[in-house]
Amino acid sequence: EAKRNGRNRYEHFTLAMDDAARTRRIIENDLREAITNKQLKLYYQPITDAEHTNILGYEALMRWHHPVKGLIMPNDFIPIAEETGLIHMLGAYALYEACREAVSWAGEQTISVNLSPMQFKNSSLVSTVEAALRDSGLSPHRLEVEITESVLLDDSLGNIRTLQNLKALGVMIALDDFGTGYSSLSYLRSFPFDKIKIDKSFINDMGDSREALAIIRAITGMSRSLDIQITAEGVESSEQFLKLREEGCTLFQGYFFGRPQPSELRLESLEQQCWLQGGSLLPSI
Ligand code: C2E
Ligand code: MG
Ligand code: MG
Ligand code: MG
Repeated sequence: EAKRNGRNRYEHFTLAMDDAARTRRIIENDLREAITNKQLKLYYQPITDAEHTNILGYEALMRWHHPVKGLIMPNDFIPIAEETGLIHMLGAYALYEACREAVSWAGEQTISVNLSPMQFKNSSLVSTVEAALRDSGLSPHRLEVEITESVLLDDSLGNIRTLQNLKALGVMIALDDFGTGYSSLSYLRSFPFDKIKIDKSFINDMGDSREALAIIRAITGMSRSLDIQITAEGVESSEQFLKLREEGCTLFQGYFFGRPQPSELRLESLEQQCWLQGGSLLPSI
């Protein structure tokens, strides 16, 4: 009897595995077509200054409008794109599309594009960035690429050379999700980043965790001596904003200022946001 149960459980387990594998394969096939079928879209989230008056730039965040499954978020398809190598196609699309979009804006705001560590395995990354800039006509200083610390971990010498080549194009480089994973302040000596983005988990926790606040302080303290800009990600309230500003963060991003939106709904000014919220959202400062 126990044996029978065990076997059933085993069969159940392999069926579940097959299911997961099948789902993955379906997503992989759909993703292959998603670019040509124009189902992938970039959404733009504003990044503001400490005065809280200007939108200095936007982060481009990918969304997949699946014809059957509806809206799929990046955490549910970027990992599959990375495993299957589709990330190279998807990453190039994001670069071209983001540059093309930014050129159409009336202002001179920057555009930040996320790069997967996988994209550093492709020797044509720098020429893809260069081509996106050339084809769109965007000035290089308006493009920023966001990388995570894992890029510095594996094959760091080759990757650092790639970062230097990107920098030589005039592109800005930001270190994303800082404080998570293998974070070490010593990484900041291996490459002159223009910006560090403090991971939103610390902003989320800083209200009730002294450790989170201590890490934020360590990062902002160090940035002052290194002359690096600090972006606070995931700012959701005016209390968080005011506190982070006091701690020395210079750039801000989060639902408090505006959610990621498709280009046609892109938030163009914070006055517009203030007006949309009935003027109640922004603290008087
Ligand atoms: P990320 O680069 O750290 O992007 C910030 C994430 O935080 C975004 O999630 C954004 O929507 C979310 N966020 C912004 N403000 C708030 C807030 O106030 N509260 C909360 N709870 N969340 C906030 P999203 O759009 O789901 O993207 C998740 C991750 O997927 C990104 O994290 C990035 O690592 C990756 N990703 C997105 N687009 C691309 C892309 O085009 N290429 C690559 N390689 N990765 C991408
Ligand atoms: Mg990012
Ligand atoms: Mg981040
Ligand atoms: Mg992230």
